[in-house]
Amino acid sequence: MKRAQLFFMILACAIACKSEPVFDGNRAMAFLVAQCDFGPRTPGSEGHRLCREYLIAEITKHADEVTTQAFMYTYGSPSQVATGYNIIGRFQPGKRDRLLLCAHWDTRPWADEDPDPANHQKPVLGANDGASGVAVLLHLAELFAQNPPRPGIDIVFFDAEDAGSHNQNQTWALGSAAFAREYAYSYNPRYAILVDMIGDNNLNIYQEGYSVRYARPVVNKLWDKAAELGISAFIPEVSYVVYDDHVPLLQAGIQAADIIDFDYKYWHTIQDTPDKCSPASLEAVGRVVAAVVYED
Ligand SMILES: [Zn+2]
Repeated sequence: MKRAQLFFMILACAIACKSEPVFDGNRAMAFLVAQCDFGPRTPGSEGHRLCREYLIAEITKHADEVTTQAFMYTYGSPSQVATGYNIIGRFQPGKRDRLLLCAHWDTRPWADEDPDPANHQKPVLGANDGASGVAVLLHLAELFAQNPPRPGIDIVFFDAEDAGSHNQNQTWALGSAAFAREYAYSYNPRYAILVDMIGDNNLNIYQEGYSVRYARPVVNKLWDKAAELGISAFIPEVSYVVYDDHVPLLQAGIQAADIIDFDYKYWHTIQDTPDKCSPASLEAVGRVVAAVVYED
């Protein structure tokens, strides 16, 4: 091979590598484990404080602008007061065309779905329910910094999603509701993608009811991309209807789709630990979201 040929091959590779960032499931898994190492991230806990500092430090390495939105809320019975913190990382803040990617970072204070009633008052570690979505977004933040997508991206880690009472929708997704209240009039992303409970070893992501009803084009974009990439964990059928962080966004007029595998045996139990999650599952979701964002 001639020297000039080699030069052009290297150049071609450099261009190709730049346009197709590779999402690495092992890298995302390390972010999942790092969050769980702080212990449960329940309201007011030491794990919550340490993880908040960690998330701010991590996103600050990659985003152009980082802000924290603090808000007060009440939860539980008897009712307790806590301070919630939404962590917002903005990439290319000067761009008008924006996409919102989000996940909740708190974990449930009570493992009230645990098969053993003795565990119902114990906190949930939240490897899948909490850490998995954040882990995917932390790795995407690294990719966005190395290789900026065309739209401006806002990554938001919502607090206070998971301290709600069953059959009372307004007690869940409080971070997202606080975000929607504060920014609804000044912030208008083209669409939003929420990732929640996407680390399950046995990943089956059906389309979610509210997303299909109110953000059908975003759902189609995601599931079509998964089919194109041959990622079979995305199943193009509706299954659950889940009141999650996307609902307050939808109510504020943002087209928001939830990527969630709600069929998880360890949901709200003390068994929601990293060994139930896999790099392959995080990678499947990370690849789909990255492909949608980069090709948009
Ligand atoms: Zn939960």
